[in-house]
Amino acid sequence: MRIGHGYDLHRLEARPPAGNGRVFILGGMELEHDKGPVGHSDGDTLLHAVTDAILGALGEPDIGRLFPDTAPENEGADSRIFLEEAVRRMDSRGLRIGNMDATIICERPKIAPHADSMAAGLAEILRCDPGQINIKGKTHEGVDAVGEGRAIEVHVVALLIPLD
Ligand SMILES: [Zn+2]
Repeated sequence: MRIGHGYDLHRLEARPPAGNGRVFILGGMELEHDKGPVGHSDGDTLLHAVTDAILGALGEPDIGRLFPDTAPENEGADSRIFLEEAVRRMDSRGLRIGNMDATIICERPKIAPHADSMAAGLAEILRCDPGQINIKGKTHEGVDAVGEGRAIEVHVVALLIPLD
């Protein structure tokens, strides 16, 4: 068995011209929000943290080393590409997801109404059952950048187990 932790944070800004925010994408889903993540790729904080949790469990280089934000091919990239690479590495090591627990911290949008769809979407990419993926949202109680709605933060813990 291997365990890994992933963490990610993206600044949230209004969309151009007022700011540099992209469309708000989280867990591969487009959600309604007047702000969006600032990032070189699509800025999907959840997929980035999940990718790093898996890579971390494998003891492999993290997402920033595999997909540098200086590489033009990663500009605006669909973050599923990063996660699929982590899944490929997990497969080749004879491992699969045992379970995964994710905490998304932001003031808005509300995560609870989307948690089940996000788990289902992640399960598809991770080739596991949605029941193996737990997703929960919290606010930051109005304090600091996350609490002021200027950033979104995600923590993920993943347990990898041997393939059957
Ligand atoms: Zn990120």
